[in-house]
Amino acid sequence: MESGYTKSSDSHPVLTDRLARPLRDLRISVIDQCNFRCRYCMPRDLFSEGHPFLAPRQLLTFPEIEAVVRAGVGLGIRKVKITGGEPLLRPGLDQLIRRLTQIPDLEDVGLITNGSQLTVAAERLKAAGLKRISVSLDSLEPQTFSWITDRAGDPARILNGIDAARRAGLAPVKVNMVVQRGINSAEAVKMAAQFRGTGVIVRFIEYMDVGSRHHYQSGLLVPSREIRDAVHARWPIEPAGSNYFGEVADRYRYLDGAGEIGFISSMTQPFCGSCTRLRLAADGKLYNCLFASEGLDLRSILRADAAKRSQTEALQLASPEVCRRLEEALSGFWRARDDRYSERRQEQNSDTEPQRRKVEMYQMGG
Ligand code: SAM
Ligand code: SF4
Ligand code: SF4
Repeated sequence: MESGYTKSSDSHPVLTDRLARPLRDLRISVIDQCNFRCRYCMPRDLFSEGHPFLAPRQLLTFPEIEAVVRAGVGLGIRKVKITGGEPLLRPGLDQLIRRLTQIPDLEDVGLITNGSQLTVAAERLKAAGLKRISVSLDSLEPQTFSWITDRAGDPARILNGIDAARRAGLAPVKVNMVVQRGINSAEAVKMAAQFRGTGVIVRFIEYMDVGSRHHYQSGLLVPSREIRDAVHARWPIEPAGSNYFGEVADRYRYLDGAGEIGFISSMTQPFCGSCTRLRLAADGKLYNCLFASEGLDLRSILRADAAKRSQTEALQLASPEVCRRLEEALSGFWRARDDRYSERRQEQNSDTEPQRRKVEMYQMGG
């Protein structure tokens, strides 16, 4: 299949990759550090307290991130999600949100967080222009929650954060639950019950073999179908259709009108065919798949003329020459893209692909 440009329904050119997928979304990791040590993401044995995370000067600055987003918007990006590591650990994050929400043609700026700082941050995020938020919460039981996050903690704190987000007017609020067999799978219906009728949308996520370092155990995978059947047996649900092309969650609504839930089934029902996402890591590497091994270094493009620029200029936007090079780099990268890891894994009928080193989820952002 030829990559290049096609016309969208509103007659804007749409950049497509080698599998004819348009570029629409960008996930931006703003920091690689986290205050949790979820065992499926940053196991404590590999990510101890002294772990060498990125130094502040290695992180893209907010003007640099804005320059990448503006270049991407020129190529078709309409949705951005801020992630990490834990994005609320990045100092001054509301300033980045303020910058991004002012970019013309960028229709949606979202954020995904572990919720631990949300009680304090919700109002500030809303005031900066954030509209919606996703909060990760895998368990309502203090013991299980602490075991999964490998940190003494209480899910009540996250629930308070979710309440603060709702009170601040962030909408929709989504709750993401990664389901693992024998660890929190028995809690799936309870999680649905917790948020039914509140407007909060729970999304059940299949445990994935992202990265190479978190000791993936295929026996812990719970196919979404099982959770869907369990919820349906308690409160009947029906498919609700998707909101837009490339939506990762299969949406369902409760027949009694108590709202909706979703399922993200990348292991058992891969959606590579409609994957419209690029990922920007905190160090400026760009990845075209969650399971990529190599990224494209945008930081060196962004800082190519740093020596020539004064400190004040460096706080402003990139030069026209840097913007042109960024756009060229993004466009070439997307046009060459033919990644479809999850579909290939399924075709090969294998649970994982252990031989190849993959970039970690906390680095490129989930
Ligand atoms: N720290 C924030 C959080 O936890 O929401 C944002 C970054 S985190 C990497 C983004 C999402 O990736 C979270 O919902 C997390 O549960 C999910 N995630 C991380 N590792 C995963 C895995 N092995 N399988 C499925 N989801 C995973
Ligand atoms: Fe941190 Fe999110 Fe990874 Fe958990 S999933 S360790 S909260 S980055
Ligand atoms: Fe997209 Fe890669 Fe996931 Fe497929 S495996 S849906 S291409 S991120």
